[in-house]
Amino acid sequence: MINIKKLTKRFGEHTVFNDLDLQINQGEIVAIIGPSGTGKSTFLRCLNYLDSANSGTIAINDVEVNCQQPKKSDILALRRQTGFVFQNYALFNHLTAEQNISEGLKVVKGLDNQQAQQRALSILTDIGLADKANQYPAALSGGQQQRVGIGRAMALEAELLLLDEPTSALDPVWVNEVLNLIKQLAQQQQTMLIVTHELQFAHEVADRVIFMADGQFVEQGPPQQIFNHPNDPRLKAFLTQIG
Ligand code: ADP
Ligand code: MG
Repeated sequence: MINIKKLTKRFGEHTVFNDLDLQINQGEIVAIIGPSGTGKSTFLRCLNYLDSANSGTIAINDVEVNCQQPKKSDILALRRQTGFVFQNYALFNHLTAEQNISEGLKVVKGLDNQQAQQRALSILTDIGLADKANQYPAALSGGQQQRVGIGRAMALEAELLLLDEPTSALDPVWVNEVLNLIKQLAQQQQTMLIVTHELQFAHEVADRVIFMADGQFVEQGPPQQIFNHPNDPRLKAFLTQIG
């Protein structure tokens, strides 16, 4: 169970969002949609402390961070509960596919070299890239690189997987293989919070869709309700534009 309360983030004088609340149940898949510049990425980044929120609390299982006075040990514990998939993959270019996955297993999960390598190979098999284990990112397609990015996050067995527009940097021909991998994870009851502009995908996969605009969760509900019976004028306008 994930419980975020009154999360507030400012950059200098600019408030990105103020007092945002969100609860996510175990196994739930929540998609966030909304116009750019509205704070979707910043919200996700605050949840694993890539950015630090100014105030509010983030609780995942028995870990709770008070963002006003975060303890370093709580931040580290929170990071162990969350995996992050970046828009631009953010792989280490000097490491092979296998090493990109095993590195985090050593650093975050404390596995030794051999254990980490074995686990990374098993993940690569799961994501259909066993034959690419020894390739560097430059030798992989965009879709394969992002699958490694997802594999790296999966390997940590985090309670919550955060995905920030995981397909938006991809050449269109690679989008489906990445969406299919995310669907595969969804079937395994992996709790996920996904920022996406792939509305069809959100419709198919999400249990709940949140429309974010102007730093607020303006409207949320099951995909059927959000996409077929939107209420807020900003959501209606957004769907018309993007659809
Ligand atoms: P979205 O992901 O919805 O497009 P972002 O979370 O990237 O939106 O950005 C929300 C707002 O925060 C924007 O006004 C953006 O300019 C601002 N912002 C994001 N990151 C930073 C930063 N590191 N420093 C200052 N402002 C930032
Ligand atoms: Mg963004």
